[in-house]
Amino acid sequence: MATPKTVLVTGGAGFIGSAVVRLLIAETDARVVNLDKLTYAASGTALRSVEDSDRYAFEQADIVDAAALKRIFETHDPDAVMHLAAESHVDRSIDGPEDFIQTNIVGTFRLLQAARQHLDTLEGARRDAFRFHHISTDEVFGSLGDDGMFTEETAYDPRSPYSASKASSDHLVRAWGETFGLPIVLSNCSNNYGPYHFPEKLIPLMIIKGLRGEPLPVYGDGQNVRDWLYVEDHARALWTVLSRGAAGESYNIGGHNEMSNLAVVETICDLLDRHAPALSGGRSRRELITFVTDRPGHDFRYAIDAAKIERDLGWTPRETFESGIEKTVRWYLENEGWWQPLAARTGLSRVGTGAAGTGKTG
Ligand code: NAD
Repeated sequence: MATPKTVLVTGGAGFIGSAVVRLLIAETDARVVNLDKLTYAASGTALRSVEDSDRYAFEQADIVDAAALKRIFETHDPDAVMHLAAESHVDRSIDGPEDFIQTNIVGTFRLLQAARQHLDTLEGARRDAFRFHHISTDEVFGSLGDDGMFTEETAYDPRSPYSASKASSDHLVRAWGETFGLPIVLSNCSNNYGPYHFPEKLIPLMIIKGLRGEPLPVYGDGQNVRDWLYVEDHARALWTVLSRGAAGESYNIGGHNEMSNLAVVETICDLLDRHAPALSGGRSRRELITFVTDRPGHDFRYAIDAAKIERDLGWTPRETFESGIEKTVRWYLENEGWWQPLAARTGLSRVGTGAAGTGKTG
Protein backbone atom coordinates (compact mmCIF):
# COMPACT_ATOMS: atom_id res chain seq x y z
CA MET A 1 0.00 0.00 0.00
CA ALA A 2 1.21 3.52 -0.82
CA THR A 3 1.93 5.68 2.23
CA PRO A 4 -1.13 7.88 2.78
CA LYS A 5 -0.69 11.58 1.95
CA THR A 6 -3.55 12.90 4.05
CA VAL A 7 -4.60 11.13 7.24
CA LEU A 8 -7.80 12.00 9.09
CA VAL A 9 -7.14 11.26 12.77
CA THR A 10 -10.22 11.23 15.02
CA GLY A 11 -9.61 11.84 18.73
CA GLY A 12 -6.25 13.44 17.91
CA ALA A 13 -6.47 15.69 20.97
CA GLY A 14 -6.61 12.69 23.33
CA PHE A 15 -3.82 10.79 25.05
CA ILE A 16 -2.96 8.30 22.29
CA GLY A 17 -4.31 10.42 19.42
CA SER A 18 -2.02 13.33 20.31
CA ALA A 19 0.98 10.95 20.36
CA VAL A 20 -0.08 9.73 16.89
CA VAL A 21 -0.41 13.30 15.58
CA ARG A 22 3.00 14.30 16.99
CA LEU A 23 4.60 11.19 15.45
CA LEU A 24 3.03 11.75 12.02
CA ILE A 25 4.14 15.38 11.88
CA ALA A 26 7.64 14.66 13.22
CA GLU A 27 8.50 11.43 11.41
CA THR A 28 6.37 11.15 8.23
CA ASP A 29 5.43 13.39 5.30
CA ALA A 30 1.70 12.95 5.89
CA ARG A 31 -0.73 15.83 6.15
CA VAL A 32 -2.75 15.36 9.36
CA VAL A 33 -6.33 16.46 9.93
CA ASN A 34 -7.27 16.13 13.60
CA LEU A 35 -11.03 15.75 14.12
CA ASP A 36 -11.88 16.05 17.81
CA LYS A 37 -14.91 17.16 19.83
CA LEU A 38 -12.65 18.35 22.66
CA THR A 39 -14.46 16.57 25.49
CA TYR A 40 -13.23 16.75 29.08
CA ALA A 41 -10.56 14.19 28.05
CA ALA A 42 -8.88 16.37 25.40
CA SER A 43 -5.26 16.84 26.25
CA GLY A 44 -4.88 20.61 26.54
CA THR A 45 -1.50 21.65 25.21
CA ALA A 46 -0.39 18.20 24.01
CA LEU A 47 -0.42 19.39 20.39
CA ARG A 48 1.39 22.70 20.87
CA SER A 49 4.50 21.36 19.09
CA VAL A 50 2.58 20.62 15.85
CA GLU A 51 0.09 23.48 15.72
CA ASP A 52 2.28 25.68 13.53
CA SER A 53 3.03 22.97 10.99
CA ASP A 54 1.55 23.58 7.52
CA ARG A 55 0.83 19.82 7.41
CA TYR A 56 -1.52 20.05 10.43
CA ALA A 57 -5.20 21.04 10.45
CA PHE A 58 -7.74 20.91 13.27
CA GLU A 59 -11.51 20.41 12.99
CA GLN A 60 -13.60 20.60 16.16
CA ALA A 61 -16.51 18.22 15.51
CA ASP A 62 -18.50 15.36 17.01
CA ILE A 63 -18.22 12.03 15.17
CA VAL A 64 -21.95 11.53 15.80
CA ASP A 65 -22.64 14.59 13.56
CA ALA A 66 -23.09 13.18 10.02
CA ALA A 67 -23.26 16.60 8.34
CA ALA A 68 -19.99 17.71 9.96
CA LEU A 69 -18.31 14.47 8.89
CA LYS A 70 -19.49 14.92 5.29
CA ARG A 71 -18.08 18.46 5.19
CA ILE A 72 -14.75 17.38 6.70
CA PHE A 73 -14.28 14.48 4.27
CA GLU A 74 -15.14 16.76 1.32
CA THR A 75 -12.85 19.54 2.51
CA HIS A 76 -9.79 17.44 3.32
CA ASP A 77 -10.16 14.48 0.91
CA PRO A 78 -8.20 11.98 3.11
CA ASP A 79 -6.32 8.88 1.93
CA ALA A 80 -6.80 7.16 5.27
CA VAL A 81 -8.69 7.42 8.55
CA MET A 82 -7.20 6.57 11.94
CA HIS A 83 -10.20 6.34 14.26
CA LEU A 84 -9.29 6.90 17.91
CA ALA A 85 -12.12 9.16 19.12
CA ALA A 86 -13.89 7.43 21.97
CA GLU A 87 -15.06 7.66 25.52
CA SER A 88 -12.25 5.66 27.12
CA HIS A 89 -12.52 5.52 30.92
CA VAL A 90 -13.95 2.22 32.25
CA ASP A 91 -14.97 3.71 35.62
CA ARG A 92 -16.95 6.50 33.88
CA SER A 93 -18.70 3.88 31.71
CA ILE A 94 -20.06 2.29 34.89
CA ASP A 95 -21.58 5.52 36.21
CA GLY A 96 -22.74 6.87 32.83
CA PRO A 97 -22.79 4.47 29.86
CA GLU A 98 -24.87 6.74 27.59
CA ASP A 99 -21.93 8.74 26.19
CA PHE A 100 -20.07 5.49 25.50
CA ILE A 101 -22.95 4.15 23.41
CA GLN A 102 -23.29 7.43 21.52
CA THR A 103 -19.65 8.09 20.71
CA ASN A 104 -18.17 4.60 20.53
CA ILE A 105 -21.03 2.86 18.71
CA VAL A 106 -23.22 5.49 16.98
CA GLY A 107 -20.20 7.71 16.26
CA THR A 108 -18.24 4.85 14.72
CA PHE A 109 -21.28 3.97 12.59
CA ARG A 110 -21.55 7.57 11.30
CA LEU A 111 -17.83 7.69 10.58
CA LEU A 112 -18.02 4.41 8.64
CA GLN A 113 -20.90 5.80 6.58
CA ALA A 114 -18.97 8.99 5.84
CA ALA A 115 -15.88 6.95 4.86
CA ARG A 116 -18.00 4.80 2.52
CA GLN A 117 -19.37 7.89 0.78
CA HIS A 118 -15.86 9.26 0.51
CA LEU A 119 -14.51 5.98 -0.91
CA ASP A 120 -17.09 6.26 -3.71
CA THR A 121 -15.42 9.51 -4.82
CA LEU A 122 -11.98 7.87 -5.13
CA GLU A 123 -10.68 6.06 -8.20
CA GLY A 124 -7.81 3.78 -9.25
CA ALA A 125 -4.76 3.55 -7.04
CA ARG A 126 -6.13 6.02 -4.50
CA ARG A 127 -9.25 3.93 -4.03
CA ASP A 128 -7.20 0.71 -3.72
CA ALA A 129 -4.89 2.30 -1.14
CA PHE A 130 -7.63 3.85 1.05
CA ARG A 131 -7.71 2.53 4.62
CA PHE A 132 -10.08 2.88 7.58
CA HIS A 133 -8.05 1.97 10.66
CA HIS A 134 -10.05 1.33 13.82
CA ILE A 135 -8.04 1.64 17.03
CA SER A 136 -9.41 -0.68 19.69
CA THR A 137 -8.55 -2.32 22.96
CA ASP A 138 -7.66 -5.78 24.28
CA GLU A 139 -10.54 -5.37 26.75
CA VAL A 140 -12.95 -6.64 24.03
CA PHE A 141 -11.53 -10.13 24.68
CA GLY A 142 -12.72 -10.21 28.31
CA SER A 143 -10.73 -11.43 31.26
CA LEU A 144 -7.96 -14.06 31.48
CA GLY A 145 -7.14 -16.37 34.39
CA ASP A 146 -3.55 -16.94 35.52
CA ASP A 147 -2.50 -18.34 32.10
CA GLY A 148 -2.96 -17.69 28.39
CA MET A 149 -2.83 -14.64 26.15
CA PHE A 150 -5.17 -12.82 23.78
CA THR A 151 -4.47 -13.56 20.10
CA GLU A 152 -6.27 -12.13 17.06
CA GLU A 153 -8.43 -15.30 17.10
CA THR A 154 -9.58 -14.99 20.73
CA ALA A 155 -13.39 -14.85 20.92
CA TYR A 156 -14.91 -11.53 22.01
CA ASP A 157 -16.20 -11.49 25.61
CA PRO A 158 -16.49 -7.86 26.79
CA ARG A 159 -17.51 -7.30 30.42
CA SER A 160 -17.78 -3.53 31.01
CA PRO A 161 -19.96 -0.94 29.25
CA TYR A 162 -16.70 0.51 27.84
CA SER A 163 -15.39 -2.78 26.44
CA ALA A 164 -18.85 -3.76 25.15
CA SER A 165 -19.07 -0.45 23.26
CA LYS A 166 -15.60 -0.99 21.78
CA ALA A 167 -16.47 -4.59 20.84
CA SER A 168 -19.61 -3.28 19.11
CA SER A 169 -17.57 -0.78 17.13
CA ASP A 170 -15.06 -3.49 16.13
CA HIS A 171 -17.96 -5.59 14.79
CA LEU A 172 -19.38 -2.64 12.86
CA VAL A 173 -15.99 -1.94 11.29
CA ARG A 174 -15.58 -5.59 10.20
CA ALA A 175 -19.14 -5.62 8.84
CA TRP A 176 -18.50 -2.47 6.77
CA GLY A 177 -15.42 -4.21 5.37
CA GLU A 178 -17.26 -7.43 4.47
CA THR A 179 -20.57 -5.95 3.35
CA PHE A 180 -19.57 -2.69 1.68
CA GLY A 181 -15.97 -3.41 0.67
CA LEU A 182 -14.55 -0.62 2.85
CA PRO A 183 -10.79 -1.38 3.15
CA ILE A 184 -10.55 -1.68 6.92
CA VAL A 185 -7.80 -2.64 9.33
CA LEU A 186 -8.12 -3.09 13.10
CA SER A 187 -5.74 -3.08 16.01
CA ASN A 188 -6.39 -4.12 19.62
CA CYS A 189 -3.91 -2.79 22.14
CA SER A 190 -3.16 -3.33 25.81
CA ASN A 191 -3.07 -0.55 28.45
CA ASN A 192 -1.04 2.50 27.46
CA TYR A 193 0.89 4.87 29.70
CA GLY A 194 3.19 7.84 29.17
CA PRO A 195 3.18 11.64 28.78
CA TYR A 196 -0.17 13.51 28.53
CA HIS A 197 -2.13 10.64 30.13
CA PHE A 198 -5.28 12.14 31.64
CA PRO A 199 -4.93 12.46 35.46
CA GLU A 200 -7.91 10.19 36.25
CA LYS A 201 -6.20 7.04 34.85
CA LEU A 202 -4.30 4.66 37.20
CA ILE A 203 -0.66 5.60 36.50
CA PRO A 204 -0.96 9.43 36.40
CA LEU A 205 -3.41 9.33 39.32
CA MET A 206 -0.89 7.46 41.46
CA ILE A 207 1.96 9.75 40.39
CA ILE A 208 -0.02 12.89 41.28
CA LYS A 209 -1.41 11.57 44.58
CA GLY A 210 1.98 10.13 45.52
CA LEU A 211 3.67 13.45 44.79
CA ARG A 212 1.13 15.19 47.05
CA GLY A 213 1.54 12.59 49.82
CA GLU A 214 -2.15 11.55 49.58
CA PRO A 215 -3.48 7.99 50.09
CA LEU A 216 -3.00 5.79 46.99
CA PRO A 217 -6.28 3.90 46.41
CA VAL A 218 -5.63 0.41 44.97
CA TYR A 219 -8.75 -1.53 43.88
CA GLY A 220 -9.41 -4.88 45.59
CA ASP A 221 -6.22 -6.72 46.57
CA GLY A 222 -4.17 -5.08 43.79
CA GLN A 223 -3.50 -8.42 42.09
CA ASN A 224 -5.35 -7.62 38.83
CA VAL A 225 -2.85 -7.80 35.98
CA ARG A 226 -2.49 -5.43 33.01
CA ASP A 227 -0.03 -5.56 30.11
CA TRP A 228 1.52 -2.08 29.78
CA LEU A 229 2.73 -0.35 26.61
CA TYR A 230 4.46 3.04 26.37
CA VAL A 231 2.23 5.36 24.34
CA GLU A 232 4.90 6.33 21.80
CA ASP A 233 5.48 2.63 21.04
CA HIS A 234 1.74 2.32 20.42
CA ALA A 235 1.74 5.35 18.11
CA ARG A 236 4.57 3.80 16.07
CA ALA A 237 2.71 0.49 15.93
CA LEU A 238 -0.42 2.27 14.66
CA TRP A 239 1.47 3.97 11.85
CA THR A 240 3.00 0.57 10.98
CA VAL A 241 -0.44 -1.05 10.85
CA LEU A 242 -1.88 1.78 8.75
CA SER A 243 0.93 1.97 6.23
CA ARG A 244 1.84 -1.75 6.00
CA GLY A 245 -1.06 -3.79 7.38
CA ALA A 246 -3.20 -5.89 5.03
CA ALA A 247 -6.80 -4.77 4.44
CA GLY A 248 -9.29 -6.86 6.41
CA GLU A 249 -6.70 -7.92 9.03
CA SER A 250 -6.51 -7.18 12.72
CA TYR A 251 -3.32 -6.87 14.77
CA ASN A 252 -2.83 -7.21 18.52
CA ILE A 253 -0.40 -4.68 19.98
CA GLY A 254 1.30 -5.16 23.35
CA GLY A 255 4.55 -4.68 25.15
CA HIS A 256 5.11 -8.01 26.98
CA ASN A 257 4.91 -6.10 30.26
CA GLU A 258 2.47 -7.88 32.52
CA MET A 259 2.31 -6.28 35.95
CA SER A 260 -0.12 -6.46 38.86
CA ASN A 261 -1.68 -3.11 39.72
CA LEU A 262 0.02 -3.28 43.11
CA ALA A 263 3.46 -3.78 41.51
CA VAL A 264 2.82 -0.78 39.22
CA VAL A 265 1.91 1.43 42.19
CA GLU A 266 4.92 0.23 44.23
CA THR A 267 7.22 1.02 41.28
CA ILE A 268 5.77 4.54 41.07
CA CYS A 269 6.25 5.00 44.84
CA ASP A 270 9.91 4.01 44.60
CA LEU A 271 10.54 6.32 41.60
CA LEU A 272 8.86 9.23 43.40
CA ASP A 273 10.92 8.56 46.52
CA ARG A 274 14.02 8.74 44.30
CA HIS A 275 13.12 11.72 42.08
CA ALA A 276 10.58 13.87 43.98
CA PRO A 277 10.94 15.81 47.24
CA ALA A 278 10.86 13.46 50.25
CA LEU A 279 7.67 13.04 52.32
CA SER A 280 7.60 14.49 55.82
CA GLY A 281 9.42 12.29 58.33
CA GLY A 282 11.23 10.58 55.44
CA ARG A 283 8.35 8.10 55.02
CA SER A 284 8.36 5.77 52.02
CA ARG A 285 5.47 6.43 49.62
CA ARG A 286 4.61 2.72 49.76
CA GLU A 287 3.09 3.56 53.17
CA LEU A 288 0.43 5.63 51.33
CA ILE A 289 -1.01 2.53 49.57
CA THR A 290 -4.62 1.94 50.69
CA PHE A 291 -6.73 -0.98 49.47
CA VAL A 292 -10.29 0.12 48.51
CA THR A 293 -13.45 -1.70 47.37
CA ASP A 294 -12.91 -3.33 44.00
CA ARG A 295 -14.35 -2.01 40.70
CA PRO A 296 -17.62 -3.84 39.86
CA GLY A 297 -16.87 -6.57 37.27
CA HIS A 298 -13.12 -5.85 37.47
CA ASP A 299 -11.42 -8.02 34.79
CA PHE A 300 -8.69 -10.08 36.46
CA ARG A 301 -5.97 -10.22 33.83
CA TYR A 302 -5.17 -8.99 30.29
CA ALA A 303 -2.15 -10.20 28.32
CA ILE A 304 -1.43 -9.65 24.65
CA ASP A 305 0.25 -12.02 22.22
CA ALA A 306 1.82 -9.53 19.80
CA ALA A 307 3.53 -12.18 17.62
CA LYS A 308 1.54 -11.33 14.47
CA ILE A 309 2.48 -7.64 14.24
CA GLU A 310 6.11 -8.54 15.04
CA ARG A 311 6.24 -11.32 12.44
CA ASP A 312 4.19 -9.75 9.62
CA LEU A 313 4.97 -6.05 10.01
CA GLY A 314 8.28 -6.05 11.91
CA TRP A 315 7.10 -3.87 14.83
CA THR A 316 8.55 -4.30 18.32
CA PRO A 317 8.33 -1.87 21.27
CA ARG A 318 11.39 0.26 22.09
CA GLU A 319 10.63 0.76 25.79
CA THR A 320 10.59 -1.80 28.59
CA PHE A 321 8.22 -1.08 31.50
CA GLU A 322 11.23 -0.03 33.62
CA SER A 323 12.48 2.53 31.06
CA GLY A 324 8.99 3.77 30.13
CA ILE A 325 7.70 4.24 33.67
CA GLU A 326 10.84 6.13 34.71
CA LYS A 327 10.42 8.48 31.71
CA THR A 328 6.75 8.89 32.60
CA VAL A 329 7.29 9.72 36.29
CA ARG A 330 9.98 12.26 35.36
CA TRP A 331 7.68 13.77 32.70
CA TYR A 332 4.92 14.34 35.29
CA LEU A 333 7.43 15.90 37.68
CA GLU A 334 8.58 18.30 34.96
CA ASN A 335 5.13 19.08 33.50
CA GLU A 336 2.99 20.05 36.45
CA GLY A 337 1.74 23.00 34.38
CA TRP A 338 0.05 20.52 32.04
CA TRP A 339 -1.68 18.22 34.54
CA GLN A 340 -2.45 20.63 37.38
CA PRO A 341 -5.38 22.43 35.61
CA LEU A 342 -6.84 19.12 34.37
CA ALA A 343 -6.63 17.58 37.84
CA ALA A 344 -8.25 20.68 39.35
CA ARG A 345 -11.04 20.72 36.73
CA THR A 346 -12.10 17.10 37.12
CA GLY A 347 -11.10 16.46 40.74
CA LEU A 348 -9.40 13.17 41.44
CA SER A 349 -12.11 11.54 43.53
CA ARG A 350 -13.31 8.05 42.77
CA VAL A 351 -16.02 7.31 40.16
CA GLY A 352 -17.39 4.01 38.85
CA THR A 353 -18.49 2.26 42.01
CA GLY A 354 -21.86 1.56 40.38
CA ALA A 355 -23.64 3.82 42.88
CA ALA A 356 -24.36 6.63 40.43
CA GLY A 357 -27.33 5.00 38.66
CA THR A 358 -27.92 5.32 34.93
CA GLY A 359 -27.34 9.03 34.38
CA LYS A 360 -25.10 10.52 31.70
CA THR A 361 -21.58 11.58 32.54
CA GLY A 362 -21.05 15.31 32.26
P1 NAD B 1 -8.76 9.71 25.47
O1 NAD B 1 -9.99 9.61 26.31
O2 NAD B 1 -7.50 10.24 26.07
O3 NAD B 1 -9.05 10.61 24.18
C1 NAD B 1 -10.22 10.50 23.43
C2 NAD B 1 -10.32 11.70 22.51
O4 NAD B 1 -11.51 11.54 21.72
C3 NAD B 1 -10.45 13.03 23.25
O5 NAD B 1 -9.58 14.00 22.68
C4 NAD B 1 -11.90 13.42 23.05
O6 NAD B 1 -12.10 14.82 23.01
C5 NAD B 1 -12.22 12.75 21.71
N1 NAD B 1 -13.66 12.46 21.57
C6 NAD B 1 -14.46 11.83 22.48
N2 NAD B 1 -15.71 11.76 22.00
C7 NAD B 1 -15.70 12.31 20.76
C8 NAD B 1 -16.69 12.51 19.77
N3 NAD B 1 -17.96 12.15 19.97
N4 NAD B 1 -16.33 13.10 18.61
C9 NAD B 1 -15.04 13.49 18.41
N5 NAD B 1 -14.07 13.35 19.32
C10 NAD B 1 -14.39 12.76 20.48
O7 NAD B 1 -8.54 8.25 24.88
P2 NAD B 1 -7.17 7.46 24.59
O8 NAD B 1 -6.73 6.81 25.84
O9 NAD B 1 -6.25 8.36 23.85
O10 NAD B 1 -7.71 6.32 23.64
C11 NAD B 1 -7.80 6.53 22.23
C12 NAD B 1 -8.37 5.29 21.56
O11 NAD B 1 -7.53 4.19 21.82
C13 NAD B 1 -9.76 4.91 22.08
O12 NAD B 1 -10.52 4.48 20.97
C14 NAD B 1 -9.50 3.77 23.04
O13 NAD B 1 -10.60 2.89 23.08
C15 NAD B 1 -8.28 3.12 22.41
N6 NAD B 1 -7.38 2.42 23.35
C16 NAD B 1 -6.93 3.05 24.48
C17 NAD B 1 -6.05 2.39 25.32
C18 NAD B 1 -5.49 3.07 26.55
O14 NAD B 1 -4.79 2.42 27.34
N7 NAD B 1 -5.72 4.35 26.77
C19 NAD B 1 -5.64 1.10 25.02
C20 NAD B 1 -6.11 0.49 23.85
C21 NAD B 1 -6.98 1.17 23.02
